[in-house]
Amino acid sequence: MARPKPLVAGNWKMNGLRSSATELAALADGLGSGSRAPKCDVMICPPATLIMQFAAQAAGSAIMIGGQDCHALSSGAHTGDISAEMLADAGAVAVIVGHSERRQDHGETSAQVAAKAGAANGAGLAAIICIGESEAERNSGQTLAIVTGQLEQSLPLSVSPDDVIIAYEPIWAIGTGKTPTADDVAEVHAAIRRTLVKRLGESDGARMRVLYGGSVKPANAAELMAIDNVDGALVGGASLKATDFLGIIAAYRQ
Ligand code: PEP
Repeated sequence: MARPKPLVAGNWKMNGLRSSATELAALADGLGSGSRAPKCDVMICPPATLIMQFAAQAAGSAIMIGGQDCHALSSGAHTGDISAEMLADAGAVAVIVGHSERRQDHGETSAQVAAKAGAANGAGLAAIICIGESEAERNSGQTLAIVTGQLEQSLPLSVSPDDVIIAYEPIWAIGTGKTPTADDVAEVHAAIRRTLVKRLGESDGARMRVLYGGSVKPANAAELMAIDNVDGALVGGASLKATDFLGIIAAYRQ
C-alpha cells in the first residue's frame, strides 16, 4: 500500500519573537523548490503571537504554519485561550493538540484532547494529536497499553487521515537527548497502526500519518525516519534553528 507523504513539523513551544522571521526565511531558502524540494511536507508551529506574521511570510513557500494548542469551543469567556477558528483566521492550517507539556502542565485529559481535535477539524485545521508514555510507564512494561489507550481516547468521533495526524512522543525522550531504540519505535508505531486500522479500516488506517517525536536531531533523523510506520517527525528544540531543522529534513532528500 502507498505510504502517506511524510511531514516534518517543528514545535517552537514558548520560543520566538518577531525577529525570528530570519530563521523562517533561512528555512524557506534552504528548502528549495522543484527537483531540489524534499519529499516531505514541512510545517512550523510558532507561538500564537507569530502565526499571522509567519503565515504571511511563508505564503508561496513550501512551509505550512500551525498552532500549538486550541480550545474546544469556537468563542466565549475563556481568558487566555485561542480557538481553532482564530488559528485558521490567522493563517494556520493545523494545530498540535495533547502535547505532553499540555497534558502535564494543564492537566489535559484524552477526552479534552479529542474535543480539541474535533474543534480543529471543524475549523478546517488538521489536528496533530500527541500521545506517549512516561519513563515509569515504559519501565513497568505499560508502553503499548498506555499509548494505544491514549490514542483511542484522543481521536475525535469523526476521523479522517486527511485531517488527523498522530505524533508518538515518549515523554522521557522530549528535550532530553534520549531516544528509544529503532526496534522500540517500530514496535510502538506498529501498535499505533494496528489501532488506527481497527478504528478507520484498512485503507484509511494505513493512510494516516504517524510521526515520531522526542530528541530528533540531524544526526539521528535518517535512522528514525527509515523505521516502518514512521511518517515524519515532530521536532522541538532542533526546529528553532533553520540549519538544524534542514538537517532533519535532509532525511527526505535521499
Ligand atoms: C516536542 O516537544 O514535541 C519535542 C519532540 O521536543 P524535542 O525535539 O526537543 O525533544
